[in-house]
Amino acid sequence: MDEDSAMDADVISALFQQGLMGMEIGAEYGGTGSTFFSSILVIEELAKVDPSVSVLCDIQNTLINTLLMNLGTEEQKERYLPRLACDTVGSFCLSEAESGSDAFSLKTKAEKQKDYYIINGSKMWISNAEHAGVFLGYRGITCFIVDRDTEGLHIGRKENKLGLRASSTCPLTFDSMKVHEKNILGKVGHGYKYAIGMLNGGRIGIAAQGLQHQIAHVATQLEAARLLTYNAARLKEAGRPFIKEACMAKYFTAEVATLTTSKCIEWMGGVGFTKDYPIEKYYRDCKIGTIYEGTTNIQLSTMAKMIDKEYDG
Ligand SMILES: Cc1cc2nc3c(=O)[nH]c(=O)nc-3n(C[C@H](O)[C@H](O)[C@H](O)COP(=O)(O)OP(=O)(O)OC[C@H]3O[C@@H](n4cnc5c(N)ncnc54)[C@H](O)[C@@H]3O)c2cc1C
Repeated sequence: MDEDSAMDADVISALFQQGLMGMEIGAEYGGTGSTFFSSILVIEELAKVDPSVSVLCDIQNTLINTLLMNLGTEEQKERYLPRLACDTVGSFCLSEAESGSDAFSLKTKAEKQKDYYIINGSKMWISNAEHAGVFLGYRGITCFIVDRDTEGLHIGRKENKLGLRASSTCPLTFDSMKVHEKNILGKVGHGYKYAIGMLNGGRIGIAAQGLQHQIAHVATQLEAARLLTYNAARLKEAGRPFIKEACMAKYFTAEVATLTTSKCIEWMGGVGFTKDYPIEKYYRDCKIGTIYEGTTNIQLSTMAKMIDKEYDG
């Protein structure tokens, strides 16, 4: 899958069949009815084999399903949750060409006409877009649910990436795309708050992907990274403050993963640099952990702000 830059459709079906794509969705909607912590364990286990698969499962559970469960109307839940649990991949569409770390500078526009909106603009770097049936997108500060077959939605050619090659990452274009107002998720004008809120939890999922390679020299760091991740997941599940801990987990695991995989290549000598062993793939795949769902710099800034606040308090 890595060499072909393609996800095997059977892998996606198997994720659905095993109930791994609707971990927290209730049984009444066809989901597994499990917990956030269990999703984190699933993401960690999948990442040991292929982070491209785990990121598909991660985005579905920690961002898409959670947003719909928390904010969806009963009609939206009945329409989308059974599909998301059974056979439909979702994409989370926030970033734009000139709006990554600075999520306030979005350019996409939605214009209200009667009971629908006309959306024009484009999104970049959208994971799983190749396979997704539903897209949660943000117009500045409003979140829309968009079905794949919506007129005016174009999915661009997928990026040729360093790592996570089997995970599709595509640009999207909205060309006078017409979306009914009943497809607004949550309240008009609250999308930014929802997106940031979801990414806080999503970061714990990304942290769970950074754990591989049980090498004795770095076992302590790996254990610390794992415990930071589990601690953040435990706090979130208990309804306690977890933003600083999620940032710490994501920042630390991403750093430990890049250091560990780089060291493993060195320790293996020349063969570590070849495609004969999977280590070079883990090295490529884990690098993204320092970039997506908030870069390392952004995690550090958020932590610093929160620590400052605690100190002032
Ligand atoms: C494989 C992949 C999958 C992705 N999947 C998704 C997805 O599914 N949905 C989605 O919406 N987005 C997705 N993204 C986008 C991702 O979240 C952004 O790439 C990321 O937020 C960084 O934004 P940027 O690329 O615009 O870089 P920039 O924000 O321009 O950052 C460039 C550098 O500047 C630094 N920097 C920027 N601002 C500050 C600051 N205020 N303080 C300190 N340093 C700063 C950054 O840390 C970084 O080092 C994905 C990206 C990739 C590569």
